[in-house]
Amino acid sequence: MTDMNHSDALQNPVLIVNCGSSSIKYALIGADATHRIEGLAENLGTPDARIKHKSATGDKSEISIPDADHTQALQSVLEQLGDVTPVAVGHRVVHGGDVFGEATKVTLGTLAEVKNLSALAPLHNPANLAGIEAVTSIYPDLPQVMVFDTAFHQTMPEVAYRYAIPKNLYTDHAIRRYGFHGTSHAFVSNRASKLSTSAGNRDDKKGWLTAHLGNGCSVTAVYDGNSMDSSMGLTPLEGLMMGTRSGDVDPGLHGHLHRTLDMDLSEIDTMLNKKSGLLGVSTVTNDMRTIEEMASDASHEHHADAKLALEMFCYRAGRYLASLSCALPEMTGIVFTGGIGENSSTVRAKIVGVMRQFGLKIDEAKNEVLIRGEEGSFHSDDSRYELWVIPTDEEYRICEETRAVLDL
Ligand code: AMP
Repeated sequence: MTDMNHSDALQNPVLIVNCGSSSIKYALIGADATHRIEGLAENLGTPDARIKHKSATGDKSEISIPDADHTQALQSVLEQLGDVTPVAVGHRVVHGGDVFGEATKVTLGTLAEVKNLSALAPLHNPANLAGIEAVTSIYPDLPQVMVFDTAFHQTMPEVAYRYAIPKNLYTDHAIRRYGFHGTSHAFVSNRASKLSTSAGNRDDKKGWLTAHLGNGCSVTAVYDGNSMDSSMGLTPLEGLMMGTRSGDVDPGLHGHLHRTLDMDLSEIDTMLNKKSGLLGVSTVTNDMRTIEEMASDASHEHHADAKLALEMFCYRAGRYLASLSCALPEMTGIVFTGGIGENSSTVRAKIVGVMRQFGLKIDEAKNEVLIRGEEGSFHSDDSRYELWVIPTDEEYRICEETRAVLDL
């Protein structure tokens, strides 16, 4: 395809911005959604700040931007886009509380509401807001939309989202379960409903358990396009064992560690968020590829710990999926996504193996080839439920929601 064709395909492009505390993931997606420019600005605020950029033709480049902050990095990103100017910007915002049940346009009013919600996501929302402020300072008149990780889960019933703690903590302080990774669960469940054939292509209600397994991990029960329950809660720490996050622990752990080891709350918070999960159990890494290698090499010095980390990760995921099936009036199948869910046939097979009572049957050959962005099913004909791998595309979903809010 020529460059001219590429710029045609990038008509009316929307810029998608996903700001972390020291990074910006971005994508420019055209009206036909099949072509995009994308990249990652990382190590912001350090001498090692840089942009890894991929052009519409797939050419990769790296640009050094020493000590750049979010605004300077976004300015450099926009320079990389050349003469292609976005018609709107869609931002990922992690926490929308119970204020935002859907994507919303950035205004002074909605921005103030998101600032108020920062206490619920102190690590994430301020970074997301920094991205909005950076875009506003560069393009004061460009329409911007916020797409919330939590919004998809606002359909969860109260029986699923309340904690069994005193009511006033919910009514006065918004302490409840929210769920995260919403754009990913929404994207893959929607896609699975389109691809599913087990019900004779019927177009009616479908029930999915969606497993987003990456560095962060969560599972969701989706029925008829609505989130019914999800494993993450008030914060993205609840639920599954993750790369560095513990997932569920006994709520009595905090008090016990404080009393016996004199650990304070911030130490415990850091331990549970940054030093636990695959990293904590394997003792060496949060990377599932490395864990699998160590687990299959009996002579490796960390073999036993890595094997346990792998088994625990899969057991806990299977156990959570089984419990979330209670939220579905009927079930069509399970969808795997995220870096681990999309690439590891081993993890997928182990999780299915954990769910022994569900009558799931794997087509081994199909499971093996579903790697590196391949989409497809891997259940055999006699499986009671479908099994799918669907590569997630959060940027696409954010783009679609941005266009819908702005009527583009
Ligand atoms: P994400 O956060 O979605 O980018 O996922 C990151 C996780 O995916 C890391 O734990 C990676 O080790 C894991 N991952 C990526 N490719 C593979 C693979 N081929 N096999 C196992 N895990 C993988």
